[in-house]
Amino acid sequence: MSLNRRLRPNPPSQRSDSDDLGILNERILFLVFRSMKWDIQALCSTASVNHKLRAIVKRLLWRELCAHSAPRMIASLENAVPSGRIGGGWHTLAKLMFFCCGCEPTRNFKVSRPTPGHFVKSSRFSKTSGQSFLTKRCRGDLLYVSDPCEHQMGEKEDDLGIYRGVFKGFDKSKTRAYLIGRRVKLEERVRCPYCGAPEWSMTTAGLVPKSAARRLGSHHGALEYFVCVNGHMHGSCWLVPLSSDDNEDDEMDGSDDSDFDDNDGGVRRIGYDDRTATNGSMCSMGEEVVVDGPAK
Ligand SMILES: [Zn+2]
Ligand SMILES: [Zn+2]
Repeated sequence: MSLNRRLRPNPPSQRSDSDDLGILNERILFLVFRSMKWDIQALCSTASVNHKLRAIVKRLLWRELCAHSAPRMIASLENAVPSGRIGGGWHTLAKLMFFCCGCEPTRNFKVSRPTPGHFVKSSRFSKTSGQSFLTKRCRGDLLYVSDPCEHQMGEKEDDLGIYRGVFKGFDKSKTRAYLIGRRVKLEERVRCPYCGAPEWSMTTAGLVPKSAARRLGSHHGALEYFVCVNGHMHGSCWLVPLSSDDNEDDEMDGSDDSDFDDNDGGVRRIGYDDRTATNGSMCSMGEEVVVDGPAK
């Protein structure tokens, strides 16, 4: 859908004094926020002014923020939904891209205390990384997953890694078909932190491959993640501490992704070089969400 079709010029008969000031003119709002490089704090503030601005931001500007920040990921996600209706809405995807949801203890993943969520300036979403979170039977799916956000939990505990992601075309995914076909129950107490919808625990569903732990720098069994009915994913893991030996490890090449490999010797924390070695659209500001690989 072109931008001109999404923009709704205000008809002359409906103009009020405030419209004439331009604050409710969609094209002017679009140009203002584009000049501000889609500042998410300003967008949140604008959406909270009144219901008219909230409606415009929700219908138009959240999508533009997402597309500006991760153009190839958004183009890919939109390919799967010709209607343009992203599961849960654009505001939920914008939140997923810029908000680490923190961690609450769950029945499969215990933490000594809850960790609050927070805004993030930048995150790297990778479909290569996403492949590590899919079992072999679901490998045809396309899942974008962020690098883990590292939270220190004190001297007696390892650091906590919190990550999030989104499926392309979740409605038609093998993962959803498996969950529905096997009648895996939705969690009773957990709701998606991005859209509020019910979720499945992938641990409960038996859909956590060992490659997920290796990708995160964790141990198999020391992580959990959830997928909501709108295709949002989020999870937590215990990060293996770095040691001097880790610095001599080989580069992670994404090829070691067997579901059945018991060798956890390759587990390590993902270092800075790993995060900058993707072939993504790194932006000069360093504040945007970055996606690797071409749109599919
Ligand atoms: Zn975080
Ligand atoms: Zn959700």
